[in-house]
Amino acid sequence: MANPIVDMRDARFVLFEQLGIDKLTEKDKFKDHSADLFNMVLDEAEKFAVKEILPHLEESDKVGSTYNPETYEVTTPPSFKKAMEAYKEGGWLAMSEDPEYGGQGFPYSLYIAVTEIFIGANFAFNSFAGLTHGAARMIEVFGDDEQKKLYLEKMYYGDWMGTMCLTEPWAGSDVGALKTKATKNDDGSYSIVGTKTFITCGDHDLSDNIIHMVLARIDGDPPGTKGISIFIVPKVVPNEDGSLGENNDLYCSGIEEKMGIHGSPTATLNFGDNGKCVGYLLGQQTKGMRIMFTMMNEERLFVGLQGLAASSAAYLHAVQYAKERVQGAHYTKMQEKGSPSVPIIQHPDIRRTLTRIKAYVDGMRGLSYYLGYAIDCVETTEGQEKERWQALLDILIPVCKGYQTDIVWDLTGQAIQVYGGYGFIKEYPVEQFARDSKIASLYEGTNGIQAMDFTFRKTLMNGMVMFGHFKDEVGKAIADAKKIDALKGYAAEVEKTLGGLEEAFAFQQDLMGKGKMGLIFGNACGLMEVMGDLVMGWQLLWQSVIAYPKLQELTGGATGDDLKAKVKESTEAAFYAGKLSAAGYFLGNLLARTSGKIDALKTEEDGYLEIADESFCS
Ligand SMILES: Cc1cc2nc3c(=O)[nH]c(=O)nc-3n(C[C@H](O)[C@H](O)[C@H](O)COP(=O)(O)OP(=O)(O)OC[C@H]3O[C@@H](n4cnc5c(N)ncnc54)[C@H](O)[C@@H]3O)c2cc1C
Repeated sequence: MANPIVDMRDARFVLFEQLGIDKLTEKDKFKDHSADLFNMVLDEAEKFAVKEILPHLEESDKVGSTYNPETYEVTTPPSFKKAMEAYKEGGWLAMSEDPEYGGQGFPYSLYIAVTEIFIGANFAFNSFAGLTHGAARMIEVFGDDEQKKLYLEKMYYGDWMGTMCLTEPWAGSDVGALKTKATKNDDGSYSIVGTKTFITCGDHDLSDNIIHMVLARIDGDPPGTKGISIFIVPKVVPNEDGSLGENNDLYCSGIEEKMGIHGSPTATLNFGDNGKCVGYLLGQQTKGMRIMFTMMNEERLFVGLQGLAASSAAYLHAVQYAKERVQGAHYTKMQEKGSPSVPIIQHPDIRRTLTRIKAYVDGMRGLSYYLGYAIDCVETTEGQEKERWQALLDILIPVCKGYQTDIVWDLTGQAIQVYGGYGFIKEYPVEQFARDSKIASLYEGTNGIQAMDFTFRKTLMNGMVMFGHFKDEVGKAIADAKKIDALKGYAAEVEKTLGGLEEAFAFQQDLMGKGKMGLIFGNACGLMEVMGDLVMGWQLLWQSVIAYPKLQELTGGATGDDLKAKVKESTEAAFYAGKLSAAGYFLGNLLARTSGKIDALKTEEDGYLEIADESFCS
């Protein structure tokens, strides 16, 4: 079944041929699983997304979630309720979680692949599950036994949903500036008072209860991030036996009108207007930011995945349209009078555009699933091996989040371009993919903040140790590619980019020595972009090493028209040829542009730091 969301053949390529997730079944944790079972899960996820989520994409955008100022209630689009019930019944929310808490214990890498399908089917719908998963994971990792018993199973099933409440009007990127207060009560609980804004799925009608994870400062604790604690604040306070008790003293005072994800309500929440909002400390006092940071990797991977999913859906729609839309003669026959018009997919500029989008989609899928696999490896290895996987996760996650959610804006824009004027018209979904996915570059830490995390904490301040692990991984792909004549040139391009990025980092280190910190901060986004280009190059080179011999085997080494004819007869050959063509375009063409970006990172052009604010506009 072909769907317009994810190329399932490619998803399987990355999971099984590239990462070999079937080998995870040799580990104790996954010993009851099999490759057949993983494939079955993928089939079911695809069927579910197409039947239950995708049909509501347009309604989600046009109707959206609405707010009633008289009742303070939020209503989700009509179709969401049934879809959410089916989602819960399928056990999708906790498919990778511990069976002890109602999960199904599947590998995280598989969960990432399934989630890509669901996000692609409807970005906004999936936000309810994404936030709930994150909140529940926090309780699983940091909660006490009582909290786990009370909340986990219900949240992992989706009966109770969750949110993350960090942002306040005066505390966006600077979370430490928050003003929400927590005062200890005699029974050990806390009274919470404050206002949180921009809270995804902060209120809605899809679950019996909503469990808010709220950052607040306990009376007397130090200012800034060091004094922040985190609290479980339920909308309806549960009784000890898990039944619903009284409504908590909190309400939604409005939802935002947004550029996209209209189905996902973005709420302002008022806590404790009557002094009776009860919250329960999660983990230790003042360790709220550390807890948040521990969970951040997972959340940022999830947001990076949103960049991939929207790009993938936009690509598949654009390909379909380009095959159907007939306009203009073939470029080889333009001069001949009466030449027939051809589908636009035959025009070189459209082929280039589609190939460019595909290259990034294939690279992003490689990276996103690889990071899911790295989480599986952290959980199933020990000692140095575990540390290595953790280091790879730590350095690559800000890149996955930052790079993938920057590039999705460009790629969905290019998909709109393929449609011509029709791409701007709401009859087609590509403009919605662009609007919906723009948020991914902004929340969960803006991409500017990701770039700083990558440039300082993950590389320069870390003595480039994490980068060393990453370099080893890239080195393996380069060495393998050099063994194949047809890929040698591409391997050299990746090697050159790797060397160039190291030089750029050495340059930043010199800048540090000269005390030019402002310039390094100014270069952070550029460094993350080059790292992202390199990561795409690494993934596509690695994929080419696998795809090249398979295509050779399927086509007997045919080239030119011979290859074209064989590809028409075999969908497998078509798949590998398509993958190699896109990877080749990236490695043999697009990656050359990265050299210029690297050069730009090695200049001391810093006038923009020195001029007065007034000079930006006098
Ligand atoms: C639709 C939507 C959903 C959201 N969901 C949630 C949610 O569920 N929970 C939640 O807590 N929050 C949520 N947010 C809030 C989101 O995380 C914040 O908007 C984001 O963290 C940025 O904060 P800000 O908007 O105040 O921007 P600001 O912090 O004011 O930043 C403005 C610009 O300045 C840059 N900047 C800020 N500080 C620095 C610095 N020190 N150095 C360099 N550049 C800097 C930023 O990168 C950005 O480009 C959501 C927001 C939206 C729009």
